[in-house]
Amino acid sequence: MSNRIPVTVLGATGSVGQRFIQLLDGHPYFEVIELTGSKRSVGQPYAQACHWILEQDMPEWAKEMIINESSPETTEALVAFSALPSSVAWMLEPEYASNGIMVCSNASAYRDEPDVPLLMPEINPDHIEMLAHQRTRRAWKGGIVTNPNCTSAGPTVVLKALNDSVGVRNVFAVSLQALSGAGLPGVSAIDIIDNVIPYIGGEEDKVSSEPRKMLGKLEGDTIKTASIEISAHTNRVPVRDGHLVCLSIQLHNPLEIDEARHVLENYQAPIISRNLPSTPQPVIQVLKQEDRPQPRLDRMIGNGMTTVVGRLRLDPIWHIKMVVLSHNTIRGAAGGSIFNAELLFKEGWLG
Ligand code: NAP
Repeated sequence: MSNRIPVTVLGATGSVGQRFIQLLDGHPYFEVIELTGSKRSVGQPYAQACHWILEQDMPEWAKEMIINESSPETTEALVAFSALPSSVAWMLEPEYASNGIMVCSNASAYRDEPDVPLLMPEINPDHIEMLAHQRTRRAWKGGIVTNPNCTSAGPTVVLKALNDSVGVRNVFAVSLQALSGAGLPGVSAIDIIDNVIPYIGGEEDKVSSEPRKMLGKLEGDTIKTASIEISAHTNRVPVRDGHLVCLSIQLHNPLEIDEARHVLENYQAPIISRNLPSTPQPVIQVLKQEDRPQPRLDRMIGNGMTTVVGRLRLDPIWHIKMVVLSHNTIRGAAGGSIFNAELLFKEGWLG
């Protein structure tokens, strides 16, 4: 019998849910014992309910699993990986948490709550301590831990490295976001082929605020958000996976390009999260070719967990500018949630 931790995937048929299934296949800590979906798929085998969009084959063990309703009272899972729409997560995730289950969520519903960690283990593993306050305040035996919006993830890693080194004052960000970030069925082909859509609902606010919380300092039981201003433009482009973000950055103290490259290349995750199964190796990779990173060529660096940087150069208005690439359904979603759960496991928060 397996001694891995039993987990459920909530919203297993969607864009992020499928990534969970793929990344949890053979995971050393976690074993998927249940999949959930909406009324559309409940009662069907996963292979029938799920329109599989990944290049890797659907794992055999998942094919015959019957999709359940999301039922916090009856599940035997200790961890719920949530890939639910935010409105559904808002109702269901607290029910799981109050039933003693640790929710590792991709949904935005609880990201801004002051007692909910918005966690990236290579950046702010100490924020996990907010769980103690969350449990006391809400009388939960489990908890909710969130990972950031897929577009916030890569830039926040870069900003963390620079902020630790010389301080970051202001950021100007323009995203080119992949289709898988829009969920299933997503943007219709007729809308996106030969096109760019310069609006993604709610995205610019998330990209402006989430890095500030993650780069903030844990003071007692709250986070003092980092005083960095971020102006964001977000765009949907006809790319399958991988969000590119062009950043121009004003620092507190200027850096030469070689110094900035050194800072980024040498950034390491805090010791506590340095050797988990999903720890990105390396955390940041800086590419020297003048036409990289490109989503199709570079999104799988570090198994999709590495933040890839290129076109590092001086900015004529501020200090430096660059292009950042992050795999949206891996580092920006399912892989990030699993990384969070690995840290929770290591720190004794599960079970
Ligand atoms: P999606 O493709 O639309 O998938 C949504 C999933 O939720 C489906 O499995 C759907 O099941 C299920 N669902 C819908 N209503 C439900 C209900 N009432 N009860 C149970 N399950 C229900 O969306 P997604 O792109 O995977 O995103 C999932 C979440 O992650 C969202 O909150 C999103 O904002 C967030 N997120 C997404 C990304 C990304 O890159 N895509 C990145 C970061 C965060 P059925 O198929 O059975 O209807």
